[in-house]
Amino acid sequence: MTTTRFAPSPTGYIHVGNLRTALMNYLIARKAGGTFILRIDDTDPERSKEEYVDGIKQDLEWLGLQWDRVERQSERLEQYNAAADKLREMGRFYEAFETPVELDLKRKKQLNMGKPPVYDRAALNLSDAEKDALRAERGNGVWRFKLDHERIDWTDGILGDISIDASSVSDPVLIRGDGQLLYTLASVVDDTEMGVTDVVRGSDHVTNTATQIQIIKALGGDCPRFAHHSLLTGPQGEALSKRLGTLALRDLREAGVQPMALLSLMARLGSSDPVELRSDMAQLIDGFDINRFGAAPTKFDEQDLYPLTAHYLQTLPLSAVADQVSGVGVPGELAEAFWLMARGNISTLKDLGAWWQLCRDGAEPLIDDEDREFIAEAMALLPDDVDGDTWGSWTKAVKEATGRKGKGLFMPLRKALTGQERGPEMAVLLPLLQVIKARG
Ligand code: GLU
Repeated sequence: MTTTRFAPSPTGYIHVGNLRTALMNYLIARKAGGTFILRIDDTDPERSKEEYVDGIKQDLEWLGLQWDRVERQSERLEQYNAAADKLREMGRFYEAFETPVELDLKRKKQLNMGKPPVYDRAALNLSDAEKDALRAERGNGVWRFKLDHERIDWTDGILGDISIDASSVSDPVLIRGDGQLLYTLASVVDDTEMGVTDVVRGSDHVTNTATQIQIIKALGGDCPRFAHHSLLTGPQGEALSKRLGTLALRDLREAGVQPMALLSLMARLGSSDPVELRSDMAQLIDGFDINRFGAAPTKFDEQDLYPLTAHYLQTLPLSAVADQVSGVGVPGELAEAFWLMARGNISTLKDLGAWWQLCRDGAEPLIDDEDREFIAEAMALLPDDVDGDTWGSWTKAVKEATGRKGKGLFMPLRKALTGQERGPEMAVLLPLLQVIKARG
């Protein structure tokens, strides 16, 4: 059965970059009728925060990316230690004692000699006595997985055929000197034991995947299918990594972005399919195909989210936004008419308040000097009882009384009543203007 996982480290909130990973894994699982696991990668007790675990769940719930179960790596340390023992017994695990400064020096030397900065495996030559001495002097070493120096091949769901020479990669550290188990081992153990069939993650994990494939095989597991999506860049192709902090899902939600707008964009961005607004998750699931994504960096422009949000809001009935409409103060009996007026004239729900304020208090009229008399005459003709027919009958009466027609008739009236040159249909807006009733 298809099983995928989204595996955030709870060291921050989810941003648009992680969302892409979450969404792709979610859609693969749902399309196949499989399982979507939310895995909290919290093996680092110093950087992992409960507040972020909660935040990640809230953000996924806001989007409607419901997981089938939650796994926490911090609760599975026993399994990881068992796997580490197994690797030790197999002779694929070795302790190394270099300090970060020593490692850095080695790397610099290699680079100076034009060689790739790959760990030289000096620790493999240490005798037991030397290890004891180093341990006494420096404390426990780190544990490295001994890669087999052969090519590691896989067919990537997005990148196609990949082949990496293991000798160009350092033996990965799986356990730190202080005993902390690192992500690479934990992830491999989880993916194997949880029956994960498909792993989608960012292309910054390609080298990890190569080493993980060898670890999975060493532990006797089956390799999942891997797909690595390209990283997001800003609209001009600039790196987004530094800005990602400001593109947290909670900030976008705060700015009024609608989940369906965000999901519709992220489910298509970087694929050969056009971005189209989808009205529900079923449509997204139906239209998703990981193989249609390309390897090139994907441009993301936050501004694209607003037209999609506006477009989505236009399709909603009052029932979908009743709380927000009453939340800005619209009385129940006006709610339906108000929403039908407003929904085509907002970019996010945050604009509702301003429209209601205009209906309730009126706007600062915008009257050109040459229209003053005309507006005074027109206003005298406006009845106090206003309904859906009033705009038609009123403008007809004004036209007869003043001789104005077309734009010269309608535009000054709109500007006088709304303070704006553009906006909703006046026939729909007029009956909502409470100031007209209040006048009488
Ligand atoms: N915790 C890892 C990360 O956020 C998970 C990577 C993976 O999907 O294996 O980068």
